[in-house]
Amino acid sequence: MSRLLVIGCGGVAQVAIQKCCQNSGTFTELMIASRTEQKCIALKEKLEAAGTPVKLSTARVDADDVEELEALIRAYKPDAVLNVALPYQDLTIMDACLECGVDYIDTANYEPEDTDDPEWRAVYEKRCAEKGFSAYFDYSWQWAYHEKFKQAGLTALLGTGFDPGVTSVFTAYAAKHYFDEIDTIDILDCNGGDHGYPFATNFNPEINLREVSAPGSYMENGKWIETAPMEIKRVYNFPEVGEKDMYLLHHEEIEALGRNFPGVKRIRFFMTFGQSYLTHMKCLENVGMLSTSPVKFQGQEIVPIQFLKALLPDPASLGPRTVGKTNIGCIFTGRKDGKERKIYIYNVCDHQECYRELGSQAISYTTGVPAMIGTALVVNGIWKKPGVFTTDEFDPDPYMDMLNQYGLPWVVDEDPQLVD
Ligand code: NDP
Repeated sequence: MSRLLVIGCGGVAQVAIQKCCQNSGTFTELMIASRTEQKCIALKEKLEAAGTPVKLSTARVDADDVEELEALIRAYKPDAVLNVALPYQDLTIMDACLECGVDYIDTANYEPEDTDDPEWRAVYEKRCAEKGFSAYFDYSWQWAYHEKFKQAGLTALLGTGFDPGVTSVFTAYAAKHYFDEIDTIDILDCNGGDHGYPFATNFNPEINLREVSAPGSYMENGKWIETAPMEIKRVYNFPEVGEKDMYLLHHEEIEALGRNFPGVKRIRFFMTFGQSYLTHMKCLENVGMLSTSPVKFQGQEIVPIQFLKALLPDPASLGPRTVGKTNIGCIFTGRKDGKERKIYIYNVCDHQECYRELGSQAISYTTGVPAMIGTALVVNGIWKKPGVFTTDEFDPDPYMDMLNQYGLPWVVDEDPQLVD
């Protein structure tokens, strides 16, 4: 029995909300609030027409505005807020949750919309110099809320999507059941799907293109090693998908896993990309279309990457046309009972099956399902502890059971191909 406020109504939110309705024993009342209320109303009507027992309501909210958020939270009185808007809104929503005494859950760590903001830039440049990676996003902003959430007796669960999210739960599960010591973790994210467009992104284009055009990095013996964008390439034969090119990227769970599993010697993250995607991206980057800095155009200020987002297909619309499968998981090496061991824990998700079930493609699906699971564990009190935590800091078993139950079954391969 709980009352949930979901902020955002894009590709990921639509899956998370539909999954909450499948878990109506936990989520009895749910408000969908976003910038464009019409999308919230359309989803509410779809779910009501399908006979959901969950009592749904909608609202318009600007999640950049803390006061507006506080007014909404005070009026609706939710037990928790699930933030599936954009990483830009993480801090304002956390502030509002703290002020109103409500638990907080999200799927992606904070990054600023305006990377030219001098106040943010000063902190960012200091962090780049101290830590040695230059991605725009990092956990420091949200970890800084730990004491405040702890004092307030509130839980903030960060990054409960697939990666981060499930990949960190896989790590906690491997550490609990398969290893005495883990030496290396390779997180692999393979999207073997084809949407038929020359170029489109599978989740929010602005966030996605910022992430993949940035320098890569990995952690070795507790230190960051940064690479040029797409400098490290490997080929991997993914179960149920086949052979794909994959590239080393910086990714946020490396930071949390490096902190929480300090004995691990190396943590890397790889994502698959086809040559056509990379050629398009390079060309867009070369002409300045990935820039986050405003430019003057016909008397108006526009941000090139935001203009590009307006031209690209909406990721939420890719569902009907995407075919193929994803394979996302983690390869662990280490020791158990004095013997060397290697395992690959992964999930395979079929784009068309996701579409048939919820009208969504597999990237939104693989993020929205874990968003619901993390939220359910917090509101049910199973993953409730005061402070700010990532998903590797709780007992993985109930989460792993719910992945099987809610559409993301996983496999443990005890003799996987390793990545050199
Ligand atoms: P979308 O762009 O499809 O949806 C974002 C939603 O947030 C839209 O409904 C948008 O409103 C709303 N929104 C944006 N700004 C505001 C605002 N100021 N106030 C209120 N609502 C706002 O993104 P996705 O669904 O693809 O991604 C959602 C989140 O999931 C992102 O943070 C993304 O980084 C994360 N993600 C995490 C993954 C993981 O594995 N951990 C993988 C993929 C995504 P409008 O409809 O008006 O545009």
